Amino acid sequence: MSALSVQTLSKTYANGFTALTGVDLEVEAGDFFALLGPNGAGKSTLIGIVTSLVRKSSGRVQIFGHDLDDEPEAARASIGVVPQEFNFNLFLPVIEVVLNQAGYFGVPRQEARSRAELLLRKLDLWERRHTEMRLLSGGMKRRLMIARALIHRPRLVILDEPTAGVDIEIRHAMWGFMREINAEGTTIILTTHYLEEAESLCRHLAIIDQGRIQARSDIATLLGELHTETFVLNLKAPA
Ligand code: ADP
Ligand code: MG
Repeated sequence: MSALSVQTLSKTYANGFTALTGVDLEVEAGDFFALLGPNGAGKSTLIGIVTSLVRKSSGRVQIFGHDLDDEPEAARASIGVVPQEFNFNLFLPVIEVVLNQAGYFGVPRQEARSRAELLLRKLDLWERRHTEMRLLSGGMKRRLMIARALIHRPRLVILDEPTAGVDIEIRHAMWGFMREINAEGTTIILTTHYLEEAESLCRHLAIIDQGRIQARSDIATLLGELHTETFVLNLKAPA
């Protein structure tokens, strides 16, 4: 079963800029999948469409078989997202950020409270539960967004450059956490521009550039090809 299936997806923004052109993508349930690409490649646009924050121009998207156009609520309920940029009410205390999201997805209040405590403890934020979001460090904010993304127990979690700009210690803690939720059966899609991150975490990956999927592969094959290519380039390099 596919966790995510994307067919001939295109996006042209209102200013006429085309950010995605005919993107096809399949991510199997249970996979840890990386979408690797440079800045401006179209990663966040793709994720925006999949999570209903950005309107597509054409194409189709299914989440666990639920078409985003035909069954938007079922599709949305299956996804948790850690966006690259988060610009909502920074005066909300940590615990409320998580509980509001639970409310949005209809998780009963009592159940939401116990899940929130578990998640915030795991992400080392429980002591900060009454702290307003604006007072958190960058790494804490990102961990909070992870707790928020997981509160309704989605089967697919999408993280858009979650480790950009966080220090190495927190990056490794976040890698461990992502591995753990994947091991529990949650499908993970991670965007990154760090090849080493994809290499260390993922089973499959796609490379996106200029709004097109350039390659899709399992990690071992792709790294083999990249190394070969580097090798060939080295051979060709002028002395
Ligand atoms: P990535 O996440 O891979 O860095 P994005 O999806 O954010 O790439 O952006 C892809 C391209 O679309 C970039 O050239 C970006 O400038 C452009 N873009 C993103 N959002 C908008 C928008 N709202 N209007 C116009 N162009 C946009
Ligand atoms: Mg982006």
